[in-house]
Amino acid sequence: VARPQEDLDPPFVRGCSNDLLLEAPRENATLVMLARNSDLQGAVNTLQSLEAAFNQFYHYPITFLNNEPWSQEFIDALTNTVSGDAHFEVVNGTAWGYPPFIDQDYARSRMLAQERDGIRYAGQESYHHMCRFNAGPIFDVPALQRYRYYWRLEPDAVDFPCALTYDPFTRMRAARKLYGYTVALWEVDTTVPSLFRRVAAYKRAARLPTTDLWRLATAPSRLPLPLRWLLGHLVQTRAPTGDAWNLCHYWSNFEIADMDFFRSPAYRAFFAHLDAAGGFYYERWGDAAVHSLGAALLLEPAQLHFFEDLGYTHGPFQNCPENAKGAQREGARELAAHDGWNVASESEVGVGCRCRCRPETVQNKPTC
Ligand code: GDP
Ligand code: MN
Repeated sequence: VARPQEDLDPPFVRGCSNDLLLEAPRENATLVMLARNSDLQGAVNTLQSLEAAFNQFYHYPITFLNNEPWSQEFIDALTNTVSGDAHFEVVNGTAWGYPPFIDQDYARSRMLAQERDGIRYAGQESYHHMCRFNAGPIFDVPALQRYRYYWRLEPDAVDFPCALTYDPFTRMRAARKLYGYTVALWEVDTTVPSLFRRVAAYKRAARLPTTDLWRLATAPSRLPLPLRWLLGHLVQTRAPTGDAWNLCHYWSNFEIADMDFFRSPAYRAFFAHLDAAGGFYYERWGDAAVHSLGAALLLEPAQLHFFEDLGYTHGPFQNCPENAKGAQREGARELAAHDGWNVASESEVGVGCRCRCRPETVQNKPTC
């Protein structure tokens, strides 16, 4: 499968960059991790890995978010793990919990039904709150208002196996990128039965342009593939065959984004429309699908960035800069059928992550 041309979205760096040598000013950015006190060990693991791969050079601050008060144990352990300032914030009120227009009895009955149907996490009220929070309210958290960019992290089963020898926030700003991702996957269809219908209705109601989308979605090989899928399937909402979305979405447990996009009137209106439909509770909409569809609807393709050069593993999926793209496809036939050259596969985990630049070879100077 031919790699698409990269006109719109070339990698920021191939191999190790010299940025480390520069005393460049830091961006207005923070790392962000939503976690529970019980996630302590996982949070330490993720951040030890990120420090080794990246933050030991850049010392970006981190903002921890929790819906409950932090334990002193968590605060002490994480403060000792990170090299930048650590802030421990509690979110509550309207950000975490049912919005007033949700019928809570109906929501709980739907959650039980979803659980009976075997939908993972669907029986946990807190999981629904978490998804809704990450899809919208997080961007209004007071402690995040002074930052423009965030790098979203998760505790547990996260690893950054390769060195990142440049500042991704600086590159995002310079390249006018608003949303960056490492892995694209298919959403579990039973979690989003009505999501795409709502998105399509919103597109019509808001009179979002379709002609440009059509041109971009059908232009050969000029777009990052996941974006092309999303656009193509959004455009299909106009077709006589009705709504279609192939469930492709950016996996938002890794995300580097310009929060001004998510704070824009356009994204706010999009989120409010979906929120009002109740699908964060009556179904089990994930924030990843909502972010992805919002980005596909509201951003120009060139404003998205695939961090091809950034090693990331979470659970069975990963993005590894030097792993053979062919092997990735071989390991994931379904993905191959979708031309998913940048979709990590489970089988690749066995061979480990191959990097262009490894943390242990970087000693404050890029020698690799
Ligand atoms: P998955 O990634 O969809 O499998 O779900 P996770 O269990 O990994 O949760 C995703 C993120 O949300 C992680 O950062 C969790 O720590 C966080 N999270 C999930 N539920 C809660 C919750 O009830 N409270 C808090 N504070 N964080 C949560
Ligand atoms: Mn996770």
